[in-house]
Amino acid sequence: MGYRTLGRTGLKVSEIGFGGYPVDDPDIVRYALDRGINYIDTSHCYRGGRSETTIGEALRGLRDRVVLTTKWCPHHIGRPAKKQVFLDMLDQSLKRLQTDHVDIVLNHEVGKNSDGVGLGRLQNPEMFEAFEAARQTGKARFLGASGHDPDLMGVMHHAVDSGRFDVLLCRYSFLDYPEQNRLIDKAHAKGVGFIAMKTLAGAKGADLDRFRDRHATFKQAALKWVLSNAKVSNLVISISSARQVDEYVPASGQPLRQADADILKEYEEAFSTQVCRYSGACLPECPENVRIADILRFSMYYHEYKQENRALESYARLVASERAAHCVNCSGFCEQACDYDLPIRTLLIRAHEKLAPGAGCPAPGVSGPPDPGRES
Ligand code: SF4
Repeated sequence: MGYRTLGRTGLKVSEIGFGGYPVDDPDIVRYALDRGINYIDTSHCYRGGRSETTIGEALRGLRDRVVLTTKWCPHHIGRPAKKQVFLDMLDQSLKRLQTDHVDIVLNHEVGKNSDGVGLGRLQNPEMFEAFEAARQTGKARFLGASGHDPDLMGVMHHAVDSGRFDVLLCRYSFLDYPEQNRLIDKAHAKGVGFIAMKTLAGAKGADLDRFRDRHATFKQAALKWVLSNAKVSNLVISISSARQVDEYVPASGQPLRQADADILKEYEEAFSTQVCRYSGACLPECPENVRIADILRFSMYYHEYKQENRALESYARLVASERAAHCVNCSGFCEQACDYDLPIRTLLIRAHEKLAPGAGCPAPGVSGPPDPGRES
Protein backbone atom coordinates (compact mmCIF):
# COMPACT_ATOMS: atom_id res chain seq x y z
CA MET A 1 0.00 0.00 0.00
CA GLY A 2 1.25 3.46 -0.89
CA TYR A 3 0.60 6.42 1.39
CA ARG A 4 0.26 10.12 0.66
CA THR A 5 -0.02 13.30 2.68
CA LEU A 6 -3.53 14.70 2.95
CA GLY A 7 -2.79 18.33 2.16
CA ARG A 8 -2.05 20.66 5.03
CA THR A 9 -3.57 18.26 7.56
CA GLY A 10 -0.25 16.43 7.38
CA LEU A 11 -2.08 13.13 7.86
CA LYS A 12 -0.55 10.13 6.09
CA VAL A 13 -3.36 8.30 4.34
CA SER A 14 -3.46 5.07 2.36
CA GLU A 15 -3.95 5.58 -1.36
CA ILE A 16 -6.94 3.25 -1.21
CA GLY A 17 -9.47 4.42 1.38
CA PHE A 18 -12.25 2.33 2.90
CA GLY A 19 -15.64 3.62 1.75
CA GLY A 20 -17.81 2.57 4.66
CA TYR A 21 -21.31 2.98 3.26
CA PRO A 22 -22.15 -0.71 2.78
CA VAL A 23 -20.04 -2.47 5.42
CA ASP A 24 -21.87 -4.72 7.86
CA ASP A 25 -19.09 -6.98 9.09
CA PRO A 26 -16.38 -5.61 11.45
CA ASP A 27 -14.03 -8.36 10.27
CA ILE A 28 -13.98 -6.82 6.78
CA VAL A 29 -12.81 -3.51 8.22
CA ARG A 30 -10.07 -5.25 10.21
CA TYR A 31 -9.07 -7.28 7.14
CA ALA A 32 -8.67 -4.03 5.19
CA LEU A 33 -6.50 -2.58 7.95
CA ASP A 34 -4.29 -5.66 7.81
CA ARG A 35 -3.84 -5.05 4.06
CA GLY A 36 -2.57 -1.53 4.72
CA ILE A 37 -5.73 0.59 4.44
CA ASN A 38 -5.66 3.28 7.13
CA TYR A 39 -8.25 5.77 5.84
CA ILE A 40 -11.90 5.10 6.70
CA ASP A 41 -14.82 7.16 5.40
CA THR A 42 -18.32 6.95 6.82
CA SER A 43 -21.24 9.26 7.55
CA HIS A 44 -23.85 9.92 10.17
CA CYS A 45 -26.52 9.20 7.56
CA TYR A 46 -25.15 5.98 6.05
CA ARG A 47 -27.74 3.27 6.43
CA GLY A 48 -29.34 4.81 9.49
CA GLY A 49 -26.05 4.71 11.42
CA ARG A 50 -25.23 1.04 10.79
CA SER A 51 -22.07 1.95 8.89
CA GLU A 52 -20.70 3.94 11.84
CA THR A 53 -21.75 1.26 14.31
CA THR A 54 -19.97 -1.50 12.37
CA ILE A 55 -16.81 0.57 11.99
CA GLY A 56 -16.88 1.48 15.68
CA GLU A 57 -17.03 -2.18 16.61
CA ALA A 58 -14.18 -2.98 14.22
CA LEU A 59 -11.93 -0.25 15.58
CA ARG A 60 -12.09 -1.28 19.23
CA GLY A 61 -8.46 -1.18 20.29
CA LEU A 62 -7.39 -0.13 16.79
CA ARG A 63 -8.55 3.49 16.66
CA ASP A 64 -5.02 4.88 16.64
CA ARG A 65 -4.20 3.00 13.43
CA VAL A 66 -6.65 4.88 11.23
CA VAL A 67 -7.56 8.30 9.93
CA LEU A 68 -11.31 8.45 10.52
CA THR A 69 -13.80 10.67 8.70
CA THR A 70 -17.51 11.15 9.20
CA LYS A 71 -19.97 13.64 7.75
CA TRP A 72 -22.67 16.15 8.61
CA CYS A 73 -25.68 15.37 6.40
CA PRO A 74 -28.13 18.06 5.33
CA HIS A 75 -31.12 15.71 5.65
CA HIS A 76 -30.54 15.38 9.38
CA ILE A 77 -29.26 18.85 10.22
CA GLY A 78 -32.59 20.55 9.56
CA ARG A 79 -33.28 24.17 8.74
CA PRO A 80 -32.18 26.58 9.83
CA ALA A 81 -29.03 24.59 10.52
CA LYS A 82 -28.04 25.40 14.10
CA LYS A 83 -24.73 24.97 15.87
CA GLN A 84 -26.13 22.66 18.51
CA VAL A 85 -27.62 20.32 15.91
CA PHE A 86 -24.20 19.94 14.26
CA LEU A 87 -22.65 19.20 17.65
CA ASP A 88 -25.37 16.75 18.66
CA MET A 89 -24.97 14.91 15.37
CA LEU A 90 -21.22 14.66 15.87
CA ASP A 91 -21.69 13.36 19.41
CA GLN A 92 -24.00 10.66 18.09
CA SER A 93 -21.43 9.69 15.46
CA LEU A 94 -18.68 9.48 18.08
CA LYS A 95 -20.84 7.25 20.23
CA ARG A 96 -21.51 4.89 17.35
CA LEU A 97 -17.84 4.93 16.35
CA GLN A 98 -16.79 4.23 19.95
CA THR A 99 -14.21 6.98 19.90
CA ASP A 100 -13.69 10.41 21.42
CA HIS A 101 -12.74 12.05 18.13
CA VAL A 102 -12.79 11.89 14.37
CA ASP A 103 -9.89 13.22 12.35
CA ILE A 104 -12.08 14.89 9.75
CA VAL A 105 -15.71 15.97 9.62
CA LEU A 106 -17.07 16.73 6.17
CA ASN A 107 -19.95 19.06 5.49
CA HIS A 108 -21.71 16.55 3.24
CA GLU A 109 -23.82 16.89 0.10
CA VAL A 110 -23.12 20.55 -0.39
CA GLY A 111 -24.71 21.94 -3.51
CA LYS A 112 -27.88 23.62 -4.63
CA ASN A 113 -29.91 20.48 -5.25
CA SER A 114 -29.03 18.63 -2.07
CA ASP A 115 -29.67 21.40 0.39
CA GLY A 116 -31.64 23.99 -1.57
CA VAL A 117 -29.20 26.77 -0.78
CA GLY A 118 -26.05 26.00 -2.77
CA LEU A 119 -23.15 27.88 -1.27
CA GLY A 120 -25.15 28.72 1.81
CA ARG A 121 -24.08 25.68 3.77
CA LEU A 122 -20.43 26.48 3.22
CA GLN A 123 -21.01 29.98 4.54
CA ASN A 124 -23.19 29.11 7.52
CA PRO A 125 -21.61 30.70 10.62
CA GLU A 126 -23.39 28.14 12.83
CA MET A 127 -21.48 25.34 11.07
CA PHE A 128 -18.14 27.08 11.57
CA GLU A 129 -18.95 27.77 15.22
CA ALA A 130 -19.86 24.12 15.68
CA PHE A 131 -16.63 22.94 14.08
CA GLU A 132 -14.58 25.35 16.19
CA ALA A 133 -16.26 24.07 19.34
CA ALA A 134 -15.61 20.48 18.24
CA ARG A 135 -11.98 21.31 17.46
CA GLN A 136 -11.41 22.97 20.82
CA THR A 137 -12.86 20.00 22.69
CA GLY A 138 -10.80 17.59 20.57
CA LYS A 139 -13.81 15.92 18.96
CA ALA A 140 -12.81 16.79 15.37
CA ARG A 141 -9.44 17.89 14.02
CA PHE A 142 -10.10 19.06 10.45
CA LEU A 143 -13.04 20.37 8.42
CA GLY A 144 -13.92 19.44 4.86
CA ALA A 145 -16.67 19.42 2.27
CA SER A 146 -18.13 16.76 0.01
CA GLY A 147 -20.90 16.59 -2.53
CA HIS A 148 -22.37 15.33 -5.79
CA ASP A 149 -24.49 18.09 -7.25
CA PRO A 150 -24.16 19.51 -10.77
CA ASP A 151 -23.03 22.81 -9.25
CA LEU A 152 -20.36 21.01 -7.27
CA MET A 153 -17.40 22.52 -9.08
CA GLY A 154 -18.48 26.06 -8.22
CA VAL A 155 -19.18 25.09 -4.64
CA MET A 156 -15.84 23.35 -4.26
CA HIS A 157 -13.88 26.21 -5.79
CA HIS A 158 -15.53 28.43 -3.19
CA ALA A 159 -14.52 25.99 -0.44
CA VAL A 160 -10.88 26.16 -1.55
CA ASP A 161 -10.90 29.93 -2.02
CA SER A 162 -12.43 30.50 1.42
CA GLY A 163 -9.39 28.99 3.12
CA ARG A 164 -11.63 27.43 5.77
CA PHE A 165 -11.75 23.85 4.52
CA ASP A 166 -8.83 21.45 4.82
CA VAL A 167 -10.19 18.56 2.74
CA LEU A 168 -12.45 18.00 -0.29
CA LEU A 169 -14.20 14.76 -1.21
CA CYS A 170 -15.27 14.88 -4.87
CA ARG A 171 -16.07 12.65 -7.79
CA TYR A 172 -13.07 12.06 -10.05
CA SER A 173 -12.70 9.44 -12.72
CA PHE A 174 -11.24 8.90 -16.15
CA LEU A 175 -14.53 10.11 -17.65
CA ASP A 176 -14.60 13.34 -15.62
CA TYR A 177 -11.40 14.78 -17.05
CA PRO A 178 -10.53 17.70 -17.38
CA GLU A 179 -12.98 19.80 -15.34
CA GLN A 180 -11.91 18.32 -12.02
CA ASN A 181 -8.23 18.74 -12.79
CA ARG A 182 -8.50 22.51 -12.50
CA LEU A 183 -10.04 22.11 -9.04
CA ILE A 184 -7.40 19.57 -8.02
CA ASP A 185 -4.59 21.85 -9.17
CA LYS A 186 -5.99 24.73 -7.15
CA ALA A 187 -6.60 22.59 -4.06
CA HIS A 188 -3.08 21.23 -4.23
CA ALA A 189 -1.57 24.70 -4.58
CA LYS A 190 -3.46 25.86 -1.49
CA GLY A 191 -2.70 22.82 0.61
CA VAL A 192 -6.25 21.42 0.57
CA GLY A 193 -6.35 17.63 0.54
CA PHE A 194 -8.29 16.13 -2.38
CA ILE A 195 -9.96 12.75 -1.90
CA ALA A 196 -11.53 11.13 -4.96
CA MET A 197 -14.81 9.20 -5.05
CA LYS A 198 -17.06 7.86 -7.81
CA THR A 199 -13.83 6.63 -9.36
CA LEU A 200 -15.37 3.86 -11.48
CA ALA A 201 -17.16 6.19 -13.90
CA GLY A 202 -20.61 4.74 -13.51
CA ALA A 203 -19.44 1.22 -12.62
CA LYS A 204 -21.51 -0.50 -15.26
CA GLY A 205 -21.18 -3.60 -13.14
CA ALA A 206 -22.97 -6.16 -15.24
CA ASP A 207 -20.36 -5.88 -17.98
CA LEU A 208 -17.23 -5.14 -16.00
CA ASP A 209 -15.66 -8.55 -16.28
CA ARG A 210 -14.98 -8.28 -19.98
CA PHE A 211 -12.89 -5.13 -19.44
CA ARG A 212 -9.74 -6.76 -18.20
CA ASP A 213 -6.53 -8.22 -19.41
CA ARG A 214 -4.19 -10.73 -17.83
CA HIS A 215 -2.74 -8.14 -15.45
CA ALA A 216 -5.57 -5.87 -14.31
CA THR A 217 -9.30 -5.71 -13.83
CA PHE A 218 -11.31 -2.74 -15.04
CA LYS A 219 -11.61 -1.48 -11.46
CA GLN A 220 -7.88 -1.70 -10.88
CA ALA A 221 -7.25 0.23 -14.07
CA ALA A 222 -9.78 2.90 -13.05
CA LEU A 223 -8.23 3.28 -9.59
CA LYS A 224 -4.74 3.43 -11.05
CA TRP A 225 -5.88 6.20 -13.38
CA VAL A 226 -7.08 8.28 -10.39
CA LEU A 227 -3.88 7.66 -8.43
CA SER A 228 -1.73 8.53 -11.45
CA ASN A 229 -2.50 12.15 -10.57
CA ALA A 230 0.06 12.89 -7.85
CA LYS A 231 -2.03 15.84 -6.65
CA VAL A 232 -4.84 13.51 -5.58
CA SER A 233 -4.36 12.63 -1.89
CA ASN A 234 -6.16 9.30 -2.06
CA LEU A 235 -9.48 7.75 -3.04
CA VAL A 236 -12.36 6.06 -1.26
CA ILE A 237 -14.24 3.12 -2.69
CA SER A 238 -17.12 1.24 -1.08
CA ILE A 239 -16.02 -2.01 0.49
CA SER A 240 -18.14 -4.79 1.92
CA SER A 241 -16.08 -7.92 1.26
CA ALA A 242 -12.55 -9.27 1.55
CA ARG A 243 -12.63 -10.00 -2.18
CA GLN A 244 -13.01 -6.30 -2.87
CA VAL A 245 -10.10 -5.46 -0.58
CA ASP A 246 -7.96 -8.00 -2.44
CA GLU A 247 -8.92 -6.50 -5.77
CA TYR A 248 -8.50 -2.82 -4.89
CA VAL A 249 -5.31 -2.83 -2.81
CA PRO A 250 -3.01 -3.92 -5.68
CA ALA A 251 -4.02 -0.78 -7.61
CA SER A 252 -1.92 1.22 -5.15
CA GLY A 253 1.71 1.88 -5.95
CA GLN A 254 1.37 0.73 -9.55
CA PRO A 255 1.93 2.91 -12.61
CA LEU A 256 -0.85 3.30 -15.16
CA ARG A 257 0.24 1.09 -18.07
CA GLN A 258 -0.83 1.33 -21.67
CA ALA A 259 -2.82 -1.86 -21.15
CA ASP A 260 -4.75 -0.14 -18.33
CA ALA A 261 -5.46 2.86 -20.53
CA ASP A 262 -6.69 0.48 -23.25
CA ILE A 263 -9.12 -1.13 -20.81
CA LEU A 264 -10.49 2.28 -19.85
CA LYS A 265 -10.76 3.31 -23.48
CA GLU A 266 -12.77 0.22 -24.28
CA TYR A 267 -15.10 0.93 -21.36
CA GLU A 268 -15.54 4.52 -22.48
CA GLU A 269 -16.41 3.47 -26.01
CA ALA A 270 -18.98 1.01 -24.71
CA PHE A 271 -20.64 3.15 -22.06
CA SER A 272 -19.96 6.77 -22.94
CA THR A 273 -23.60 7.43 -23.75
CA GLN A 274 -24.83 5.82 -20.54
CA VAL A 275 -22.74 7.58 -17.90
CA CYS A 276 -23.81 10.99 -16.61
CA ARG A 277 -20.88 13.39 -16.07
CA TYR A 278 -22.97 15.71 -13.86
CA SER A 279 -22.10 18.76 -15.91
CA GLY A 280 -25.61 20.11 -15.42
CA ALA A 281 -25.81 21.32 -19.05
CA CYS A 282 -29.23 19.69 -19.44
CA LEU A 283 -30.86 21.22 -16.38
CA PRO A 284 -31.86 24.64 -17.79
CA GLU A 285 -33.53 22.92 -20.76
CA CYS A 286 -36.05 21.00 -18.68
CA PRO A 287 -39.34 22.89 -18.46
CA GLU A 288 -40.31 20.87 -15.38
CA ASN A 289 -37.11 21.31 -13.35
CA VAL A 290 -36.62 17.57 -13.03
CA ARG A 291 -33.54 16.73 -10.91
CA ILE A 292 -31.90 14.98 -13.86
CA ALA A 293 -28.32 14.48 -12.65
CA ASP A 294 -29.38 13.45 -9.16
CA ILE A 295 -31.92 10.94 -10.44
CA LEU A 296 -29.30 9.42 -12.73
CA ARG A 297 -27.00 9.13 -9.70
CA PHE A 298 -29.74 7.43 -7.68
CA SER A 299 -30.32 5.10 -10.60
CA MET A 300 -26.59 4.28 -10.58
CA TYR A 301 -26.86 3.37 -6.88
CA TYR A 302 -29.77 1.09 -7.74
CA HIS A 303 -28.62 -0.62 -10.92
CA GLU A 304 -24.82 -0.56 -10.74
CA TYR A 305 -23.93 -0.38 -7.04
CA LYS A 306 -26.82 -2.68 -6.04
CA GLN A 307 -27.52 -0.27 -3.15
CA GLU A 308 -31.27 -0.37 -3.64
CA ASN A 309 -32.32 1.17 -0.34
CA ARG A 310 -29.92 4.07 -0.74
CA ALA A 311 -31.47 4.79 -4.13
CA LEU A 312 -35.03 4.45 -2.92
CA GLU A 313 -34.49 6.67 0.10
CA SER A 314 -32.76 9.32 -1.99
CA TYR A 315 -35.54 9.37 -4.57
CA ALA A 316 -38.17 9.49 -1.85
CA ARG A 317 -36.65 12.75 -0.57
CA LEU A 318 -37.46 14.53 -3.84
CA VAL A 319 -40.73 16.38 -3.99
CA ALA A 320 -43.12 15.15 -6.67
CA SER A 321 -42.40 18.05 -9.03
CA GLU A 322 -38.69 17.13 -9.16
CA ARG A 323 -39.26 13.50 -10.13
CA ALA A 324 -39.15 11.96 -13.56
CA ALA A 325 -42.88 11.29 -13.91
CA HIS A 326 -42.93 14.34 -16.20
CA CYS A 327 -40.67 12.61 -18.71
CA VAL A 328 -43.28 10.14 -19.92
CA ASN A 329 -45.14 12.84 -21.83
CA CYS A 330 -42.15 14.99 -22.79
CA SER A 331 -40.26 15.17 -26.06
CA GLY A 332 -36.91 15.26 -24.24
CA PHE A 333 -35.62 18.83 -24.45
CA CYS A 334 -32.80 17.87 -22.09
CA GLU A 335 -31.20 15.50 -24.58
CA GLN A 336 -30.36 18.32 -27.00
CA ALA A 337 -28.14 19.91 -24.37
CA CYS A 338 -26.23 16.80 -23.35
CA ASP A 339 -22.65 16.87 -24.67
CA TYR A 340 -22.41 13.10 -24.27
CA ASP A 341 -25.54 12.07 -26.17
CA LEU A 342 -27.18 10.35 -23.25
CA PRO A 343 -30.73 9.11 -23.91
CA ILE A 344 -31.75 11.02 -20.82
CA ARG A 345 -35.50 10.65 -21.17
CA THR A 346 -35.30 6.86 -21.48
CA LEU A 347 -32.87 6.62 -18.56
CA LEU A 348 -35.10 8.80 -16.38
CA ILE A 349 -38.26 6.87 -17.16
CA ARG A 350 -36.44 3.64 -16.28
CA ALA A 351 -35.25 5.24 -13.04
CA HIS A 352 -38.72 6.45 -12.12
CA GLU A 353 -40.22 3.03 -12.68
CA LYS A 354 -37.78 1.54 -10.18
CA LEU A 355 -37.56 4.33 -7.63
CA ALA A 356 -41.03 5.89 -7.49
CA PRO A 357 -43.10 5.58 -4.34
CA GLY A 358 -45.35 2.59 -4.69
CA ALA A 359 -42.56 0.51 -6.15
CA GLY A 360 -41.35 -0.66 -2.75
CA CYS A 361 -39.99 2.71 -1.66
CA PRO A 362 -39.51 3.27 2.10
CA ALA A 363 -40.47 6.59 3.66
CA PRO A 364 -37.69 9.17 3.96
CA GLY A 365 -35.38 8.40 6.86
CA VAL A 366 -36.56 4.83 7.14
CA SER A 367 -33.88 2.26 6.43
CA GLY A 368 -34.57 -1.15 5.03
CA PRO A 369 -32.29 -4.18 5.11
CA PRO A 370 -28.61 -3.56 4.38
CA ASP A 371 -27.61 -2.90 0.80
CA PRO A 372 -24.90 -5.28 -0.29
CA GLY A 373 -23.05 -2.29 -1.73
CA ARG A 374 -20.30 -2.71 -4.25
CA GLU A 375 -18.68 0.39 -5.62
CA SER A 376 -18.15 4.02 -4.83
S1 SF4 B 1 -37.47 14.33 -20.66
FE1 SF4 B 1 -38.46 16.36 -20.51
S2 SF4 B 1 -39.30 16.43 -18.42
FE2 SF4 B 1 -37.79 14.75 -18.48
S3 SF4 B 1 -35.88 15.73 -17.80
FE3 SF4 B 1 -35.89 15.82 -20.05
S4 SF4 B 1 -36.77 17.84 -20.52
FE4 SF4 B 1 -37.26 17.40 -18.35
